Amino acid sequence: MSVETQKETLGFQTEVKQLLHLMIHSLYSNKEIFLRELISNASDAVDKLRFEALAKPELLEGGAELKIRVSFDKDAKTVTLEDNGIGMSREDAVTHLGTIAKSGTADFMKHLSGDQKKDSHLIGQFGVGFYSAFIVADKVDVFSRRAGLAASEGVHWSSKGEGEFEISTVEKADRGTRIVLHLKSAEDEFADGWRLRNIIKKYSDHIALPIELPKEVAAVEGEEQPAVEWETVNRASALWTRPRTEVKDEEYQEFYKHVAHDFENPLSWSHNKVEGKLEYTSLLYVPTRAPFDLYQREAPKGLKLYVQRVFVMDQAESFLPLYLRFIKGVVDSNDLSLNVSREILQKDPIIDSMKSALTKRVLDMLEKLAKNEPEQYKGFWKNFGQVMKEGPAEDFANKEKIAGLLRFASTQGDDGEQVVGLVDYLARAKEGQDKIYYLTGETYAQVKNSPHLEVFRKKGIEVLLLTDRIDEWLMSYLNDFDGKSFVDVARGDLDLGNLDSEEDKKAAEEVAKSKEGLVERLKTALGDSVAEVRVSHRLTDSPAILAIGEQDLGLQMRQILEASGQKVPDSKPIFEFNPAHPLIEKLDNEQSDERFGDLSHILFDQAALAAGDSLKDPAAYVRRLNKLLVELSV
Ligand code: ADP
Ligand code: MG
Repeated sequence: MSVETQKETLGFQTEVKQLLHLMIHSLYSNKEIFLRELISNASDAVDKLRFEALAKPELLEGGAELKIRVSFDKDAKTVTLEDNGIGMSREDAVTHLGTIAKSGTADFMKHLSGDQKKDSHLIGQFGVGFYSAFIVADKVDVFSRRAGLAASEGVHWSSKGEGEFEISTVEKADRGTRIVLHLKSAEDEFADGWRLRNIIKKYSDHIALPIELPKEVAAVEGEEQPAVEWETVNRASALWTRPRTEVKDEEYQEFYKHVAHDFENPLSWSHNKVEGKLEYTSLLYVPTRAPFDLYQREAPKGLKLYVQRVFVMDQAESFLPLYLRFIKGVVDSNDLSLNVSREILQKDPIIDSMKSALTKRVLDMLEKLAKNEPEQYKGFWKNFGQVMKEGPAEDFANKEKIAGLLRFASTQGDDGEQVVGLVDYLARAKEGQDKIYYLTGETYAQVKNSPHLEVFRKKGIEVLLLTDRIDEWLMSYLNDFDGKSFVDVARGDLDLGNLDSEEDKKAAEEVAKSKEGLVERLKTALGDSVAEVRVSHRLTDSPAILAIGEQDLGLQMRQILEASGQKVPDSKPIFEFNPAHPLIEKLDNEQSDERFGDLSHILFDQAALAAGDSLKDPAAYVRRLNKLLVELSV
């Protein structure tokens, strides 16, 4: 080896140390994936070089035959990977192989429990990458040189995978990266041609460039060792260019892990070739699990863009709307120019039509999944439902399609699981029901027991129960589905339309008339706290309830706005009472104005509590209630 200069020892970033520890201790049953990860990186590095060389052909330095070589030394117990891709400078090596740049990593690492079984699941969400080398190696040497730098500006990175790594500047004749794994003594089985070949076939067959292994040539005694001959062991063609019928599921799955940097198999995929005015191929995947940084603003999103099979960029965000940011995959266009930039992508009308076609593809794929694999769709919804709920606001054109994919908890279930789709809901709607009823609230327990549901229970009408923070906002974008409008059961003057018989309506009117006096008395007693007082037809068991005005903000939206420090327009609830309830009868007969006032305020406060709201003056509530309790006990 040549001389090493400017030798430094640096510590890994804390998160890297944690990741290393986790990896070594939780992936021992899946060791061989280290090769997949390192080959994946080599392939990415070659893609980057190929792209940069379009503008700067001199980067190829005469070596345009791009490939990956894997070799081994049984005696030295080493496995070596070499690529002639973009390579790394000294700074590149320090950042890329010493830190993790993903935002939110530190937070994520806090979730590690120390329980290896549980944590090994988390690592799936995080991705493994380069550091997986330390699953099988107790020392890793990386020799690299960034394309375009002088031979004297090579870098040697070396680490035992503990707390630190060494870095020095070395001479490296060829651009690209060579990684030498010094195998742990228990892992020397990997220094074997047959074993390596099998692993490459299994995980990396889809890699589009040749992966070469030395040909096994039997040594003849007394003769000089023959020069190494190399042979390609993978298929070495871009997977998405092959016809669908010829690609096996396992190949689609392994390709996914490479493009998505994921550790698990995808849930579903859709591979399409489009010909005609525009020509492109897309291969889109739905991941099985949400990545840990799904809600991080800067988290990577978008597709890998190729133009005529040449890699152009990662994370091309212009091809899908934000609410589908969890979709991974590749789009390969024949129409775009090779020097297309992110800025151009944002403006190009070609991209707009591709975006709407790709969006439809994804929604169709999800529809199919929901229809054919309802159990898997449940899992999908758990992971990505919250993000899908951003859809109706962002993508007006596909509102109806997205609405069909939404899943809610409802009064039909009893565990609050979000499994009811709007199609199912309407299929079992009552005869004459032309509305979709829903109730929003903070928690499932609260909405499930809300007095607002009483009349619906009595009539056997299903109500969707919405308790995600985003729900009220979502519902403000959904007006109808399949021609049926959405109705918030806690809002306005509930009109059950055809679900109430003529007799019911008549009877209700008569009761309302007979209680006009009570309504007036309550208005006086409650004064400023209410917008209106009226007889309820929502209630069967509870004495009173608070309804939200037709145009007013709901509780959830109010709380979100308040929490973000915004001024919320003042709105007063409508106090509705149940004339058949014994407490209301008692109230109606109460002669003392003071007791009437106390009791009506208690009923008002209780209704607020049942709606999940907090009391404006809790102490007054307690005082009034205790006063009544004392009177009761004498
Ligand atoms: P990821 O591939 O998800 O970015 P990795 O942990 O696998 O994460 O790799 C970390 C980074 O190290 C890569 O993003 C790349 O910048 C750099 N790197 C790793 N292997 C190579 C290689 N063979 N050639 C050039 N750069 C590499
Ligand atoms: Mg990687």
